Amino acid sequence: MKFICPTCNKEMPRELRVIIPHTEEHIMEVITRKHPDWVKKDGVCKRCHDYYKDALNAP
Ligand SMILES: [Zn+2]
Repeated sequence: MKFICPTCNKEMPRELRVIIPHTEEHIMEVITRKHPDWVKKDGVCKRCHDYYKDALNAP
């Protein structure tokens, strides 16, 4: 079964889907800012999760 990442629109296996935990609410905020239509429970792909996580840590 495939999953289409809502933030990068790439199709990938469902195993690469990440549901962002409540402890990472700051990451959800960054994603929501760029993608206002994003639905939290849909999650993002692992790559986007890492990308937004890194973006938060960037100076
Ligand atoms: Zn993605």
